[in-house]
Amino acid sequence: MKALVKARAERGIWMQDVPTPEIGPADVLVKVRKTGICGTDVHIYNWDEWAQQTVPVPLVTGHEYAGEIAAVGAEVRHLQVGQRVSGEGHVVGLRSRAARAGKYHLDPETKGIGVNLPGAFAEYVRIPAFNIVPLPDSVDDEIGAILDPLGNAVHTALSFDIVGEDVLITGAGPIGIMGAAVARHVGARHVVITDVNPQRLALAAEVADVVPVNVASQSLEEQMQRLGMREGFDVGLEMSGAPPALEQMLDHMVMGGRIALLGIPARPFPFDLGRIVFRMITLKGIYGREMFETWHKMLAMLESGLDVRKVITGRLAAADYGEAFARAAAGEPGKIILDW
Ligand code: NAD
Ligand code: ZN
Repeated sequence: MKALVKARAERGIWMQDVPTPEIGPADVLVKVRKTGICGTDVHIYNWDEWAQQTVPVPLVTGHEYAGEIAAVGAEVRHLQVGQRVSGEGHVVGLRSRAARAGKYHLDPETKGIGVNLPGAFAEYVRIPAFNIVPLPDSVDDEIGAILDPLGNAVHTALSFDIVGEDVLITGAGPIGIMGAAVARHVGARHVVITDVNPQRLALAAEVADVVPVNVASQSLEEQMQRLGMREGFDVGLEMSGAPPALEQMLDHMVMGGRIALLGIPARPFPFDLGRIVFRMITLKGIYGREMFETWHKMLAMLESGLDVRKVITGRLAAADYGEAFARAAAGEPGKIILDW
């Protein structure tokens, strides 16, 4: 089969012929239809420090996918060939205390499809049946292929009660924009999203009814005054990984505000913890999605009117992966989907 392989320990990714994966008794073979290119894939493509330390070569990459079940293992009873599916890209162990308590997303033995395990940028991918999430008819393959990052957005946005609250989102990347759409959908009062990239802020305003603020040229205070906000944001969703964004968020939270942190800083940075203490801020780290509560909630919200389709700004054939990765690495405003 054709697959995109991180074949060499250097910048790039290469389309190669590789054997179709064999499946075990508890696995499913998925015929891949659409895949999403993620920031993680760009790190692997660029072969940065994180990728060098994490990804074994050669490896088929990719973890955002939707497709159709092509075969099921001997022990798989609840899934059928032909079913349309997506699935969780984190493969968990079942031995830890957290996993045995049903909190699979907290399992310390987690491995990542397309990061440490063979991935979905391929005609076929092997997925444990446990990880498979069937798609409702109303969720088509391209939306199915972005459920992984939408899940990040949903997990972060639903970490704290935001109904009737004022929410600040820092970072209008695809996940920040989808987080803003989710915050709107579930009933936040004001949703303000910041970035330093005007194209991304324009896309945010197209996807959801939010207030975009370019913090490189506009004052966040002025926007808050205009909205009639007096004390600060109740909930913050940090989705940039940029240290100045977290500083700015802290400066604009209410006393006792709650912050969910999804953005991954490129490197450690100095940070004044005293501000968290004196302002009695709650910080919560977010990694991945909750298995499988986040999946349930996001499918339910998509079925009840959550619309994130406009966050897809590139649709290319898998054969055009060179152009797709070049665009992703150059900062495409939204998600790029590859058609297999
Ligand atoms: P992205 O890199 O596409 O978007 C980040 C955005 O932050 C960019 O548009 C950038 O211009 C903006 N930004 C930079 N400086 C800023 C500032 N001072 N204020 C406001 N915005 C600023 O990322 P993404 O794919 O949307 O993902 C969001 C973040 O979440 C990234 O840091 C990513 O690494 C991380 N992530 C975490 C998880 C997890 O499980 N925790 C999963 C996926 C992605
Ligand atoms: Zn991803």
